[in-house]
Amino acid sequence: MDCCRSANPFRLCSALRVLGSFMVFLVLAIVTLSYYAVVVVAWGPRLSHGFPVSVLASVIIVVFHLLLALLIWSYFMVVFHDPGAVPANWRPLLDEESLERTASATLSDYIAPETRASTSSPPEGIERRPNTGYCARCQNGKPPRCHHCSVCQRCVLKMDHHCVWVVNCVGARNYKFFLLFLIYTFLETILDTFVLLPNFVKFFGDARKHSSSPGNLAVTFLAFVLNLAFALSLLCFVGMHTSLVLSNTTTIEVYEKKKAVIWKYDLGKRKNFEQVFGTKKLLWFLPLFSAEDLEKIPALKGLDFPTRSDVEL
Ligand SMILES: [Zn+2]
Ligand SMILES: [Zn+2]
Repeated sequence: MDCCRSANPFRLCSALRVLGSFMVFLVLAIVTLSYYAVVVVAWGPRLSHGFPVSVLASVIIVVFHLLLALLIWSYFMVVFHDPGAVPANWRPLLDEESLERTASATLSDYIAPETRASTSSPPEGIERRPNTGYCARCQNGKPPRCHHCSVCQRCVLKMDHHCVWVVNCVGARNYKFFLLFLIYTFLETILDTFVLLPNFVKFFGDARKHSSSPGNLAVTFLAFVLNLAFALSLLCFVGMHTSLVLSNTTTIEVYEKKKAVIWKYDLGKRKNFEQVFGTKKLLWFLPLFSAEDLEKIPALKGLDFPTRSDVEL
């Protein structure tokens, strides 16, 4: 299924590219606003208060900075890391069985019905096998789970979706970074909401008594409302992507999976998780992969994916 041609909401591609640059500034502006509200206005001054307030303030400020560092690191990794491009003149490795099928099958057998209309004959030297295709726009082979992104104007390996917040496609090689960004942002917004709550409640009293500066009152109010709104909406995304990772499905494949009796990429929850996060437990929490995982887990390269039948063999 080629999502970009069927039900992709990102048809206004050039407008989205312009919006993308704005989103980076928006993310940085929200981070700066939250930093000012939590550290400068709400809890920084409490560091000089007596015990136990000073200890609580220290803990909040340390956790805030730790989450912020992980959030920004994950964010720039997903923004600047290539989600995965199809190598020039890519062609699938054909095993003997596929070669036999290639000999007896017609072109239409190799292309999903919904992509036939947009697909022309491949140039000489590019072969097909079931589950792989050919992208007429890129003039190149199309590995399994790869989709053409209309915004990036190229094929992206194991494409999940094009994300305006990170100004990049989310695919095989940066999906983990995107998920960590999602999780750390969720945790940071939850923390901000709770630690700003006392100041938010005080906001109405202070506003009447004029005991705080109008600027600080406005920053506290805005930061609290924004963090609460983001925390609630991110809760849905975190839940959705947890379910997708554990079933080894991309956002694009949800519809396809619903139609399938057995989802062929579902290798069991643990293996499905490792296909995205790698096998090294310490690195699960960081936007990094070990060289060994990159070597041993084909899904992280994005060109080939083990299926249930491979595992069961
Ligand atoms: Zn393409
Ligand atoms: Zn894209």
